[in-house]
Amino acid sequence: MSSNQSRAQAIAQITNRVSKSYTQTEPLKDIWASDVFNLATMEEALSKNAFKAMKNTVMTGAALDPTVAEVVAAAMKEWAMAKGAKFFSHVFYPMTNITAEKHDGFIITNPEGGSITEFTGSLLIKGEPDGSSFPNGSLRMTNAARGYTAWDPTSPAFVMTTANGAVLMIPSVFVSWTGEALDKKIPLLRSNLAVNRAAQKVLTLMGETEIGTVNSSCGAEQEYFLIDENFANARPDLLLCGRTLFGASAAKGQQFDDHYFGAIPARVQVFMQDFEDKLYRLGIPAKTHHNEVAPGQFELAPYFEAANVAADHQQLMMTIMKSRAKEHGFMCLLHEKPFAGVNGSGKHVNWSVGNATQGNLLDPGDTPHSNLNFLLFCGAVIRGVHLYGPLLRAVIASASNDHRLGANEAPPAIMSVYLGDQLESVFQDIKTGELLAKAEGGMMDMGLSQILKFKRDPGDRNRTSPFAFTGNRFEFRAVGSSQSVSGPLVAMNTILADSLNWMAGKLEAALASKSDQTQAVIVVLQEVMEKHGQVVFGGNGYSTDWHKEAVEKRGLRNLRTSAEALPVFKEQPIVELFETTGVLSPKELASRFDVYAEQYVQSIEVEAKLVINIATTKIYPAAVEHITAVSKAAKLGLSDNGLGGAVENANAMMADVAKLQAEIGKHDFDSIEAHLKFCSEKICPLMLSVRKSADALEGVIDDELWPLPKYFEMFNIK
Ligand code: ADP
Ligand code: MG
Repeated sequence: MSSNQSRAQAIAQITNRVSKSYTQTEPLKDIWASDVFNLATMEEALSKNAFKAMKNTVMTGAALDPTVAEVVAAAMKEWAMAKGAKFFSHVFYPMTNITAEKHDGFIITNPEGGSITEFTGSLLIKGEPDGSSFPNGSLRMTNAARGYTAWDPTSPAFVMTTANGAVLMIPSVFVSWTGEALDKKIPLLRSNLAVNRAAQKVLTLMGETEIGTVNSSCGAEQEYFLIDENFANARPDLLLCGRTLFGASAAKGQQFDDHYFGAIPARVQVFMQDFEDKLYRLGIPAKTHHNEVAPGQFELAPYFEAANVAADHQQLMMTIMKSRAKEHGFMCLLHEKPFAGVNGSGKHVNWSVGNATQGNLLDPGDTPHSNLNFLLFCGAVIRGVHLYGPLLRAVIASASNDHRLGANEAPPAIMSVYLGDQLESVFQDIKTGELLAKAEGGMMDMGLSQILKFKRDPGDRNRTSPFAFTGNRFEFRAVGSSQSVSGPLVAMNTILADSLNWMAGKLEAALASKSDQTQAVIVVLQEVMEKHGQVVFGGNGYSTDWHKEAVEKRGLRNLRTSAEALPVFKEQPIVELFETTGVLSPKELASRFDVYAEQYVQSIEVEAKLVINIATTKIYPAAVEHITAVSKAAKLGLSDNGLGGAVENANAMMADVAKLQAEIGKHDFDSIEAHLKFCSEKICPLMLSVRKSADALEGVIDDELWPLPKYFEMFNIK
């Protein structure tokens, strides 16, 4: 028997597969949010007063009376049970990127042996999952394991229906007995609070009298790969690490750019329709989908929502994406770089802040130079990215995102801000103390009478910037595809809050000495541009010139790897930033460093072990079989061209495997930082070295013997 059974079987199974079909019959209005206990549902299910209280909480974050929780719990239970739910679960978001849930039945029994159902206000408000196994970065000792989940009424509850039944899901925070945040939701909620507090100060100083609660919004574009699950099942690296640890480049990859925005393959369209209908039922507004640059790569962008809800929806979307993909015979890969040599996947996080009274505070309107609120908020972002760029880098640091950042497909690890031509020149004028009107984009006139003229944007777009202004929001483009959007949102909100607080002080002083409001704003923004203007960059972020200029001339930091970026969490200015804004205590922040560092080390160790295993048990035996056969033939006088360096590569590969084996045994490090560095500087290059020999072997070994599905097969056999 040859060693490539599973690869051959995978191809046979895919060839004989009967595809599922999916016909969408129900109109959108019938399925939209049908499984969500949202305000519309509550208006019908609750008394007038209870509904008013809930609406106030959802809209403004105001405290909810526990008696209202009692009423809401009863209505929620009735609504969920009518949909077949017998269980409920607090859903929470631990410091890993996962979503956690523990199911409890509504059922209780009575002494007569009968069953009744119960769901009280206190059961809704609080759950206790223990959950001592979740990483907490020493925030809890294992002998003091109490952790609570607590209902977040600002994110709607929903019923999740799977083949195994329906469950009422209650979005929740996760907190330790001592009150410390163990999750990704609490910091996000706190960061919204911080933005609101700071924005209120600035807007009040600007003479606004009616100021609604300021909140952040997020629309995240999710990139992902779909690979036939038969291939994935034949690749332990995809199953365990979500990326290929081996694989020679296909003769045809993405070089023709023929996949980007191309026609979506039929089988994928079926998946998308099914998946998006599921999202619609859960009130997730799937808005844009298309093919991405790499073969087998796609994107889905939901319409933007309040950041807290958007973050919960992102998590839910990733879960459903994977489960629906499985239903259609695909494995959905959310890893940032599943395949070498073709583009990786990111998650562009579009972010803005605003309220019901002033609207989107990052919307310049047609005349940005006269929109003072906008200029202040935009200036606050510029200051924030300059002062805390390394934090933005740290919150997107992971072993998997390291493969993508800084390659010529994704933004560099250097944080800069792209403003676009029009806005950049407004801010350059401000430097010289002026606020001048700027040319608008004008009308697009192609000189073709049949094509109607349309209004052009005032600036072009820049795909090479990690942090770009895109008309009425900033787009954080360096976020990884598998990440929770919470970390990036927390960082953006917190640096904005810090800048707005700083600005409020400056503005107050300037308003006292200048008679004119515009002049006062100019003075404040002048200081922003003088001290922080060097973070604004409109050129090509991929170029080596920029890397040099950014670091040498502008003093920006280039934190290439997670090993360099994660320790930023421990730097004093970052500790102070989070403490003064009330988003994370020093202890909570320290725990995040511990957890993320440990995750980094673990991911690399799992990969290294698998590299050793696959090289030793799959690739080497195939090489031996091939070399033996060719050598035998050579003895009969046949050409031994087929060896093509196979002997040398097989030996080199096994020599590197031995080295890797020796290195991963090491565990005595002086500090976590040293361990991170060791992984990134010792283990990663060795893994690459093993791969290099293995990929060379793939190019010469008899195709029949090769054990792993090849890149061209995974990309092209559908
Ligand atoms: P592109 O690929 O051109 O960047 P997409 O349409 O794919 O744009 O995605 C843009 C994302 O930005 C969507 O999720 C959209 O809802 C979101 N978005 C639009 N306006 C705002 C805003 N004011 N605040 C936050 N997100 C926004
Ligand atoms: Mg985008």
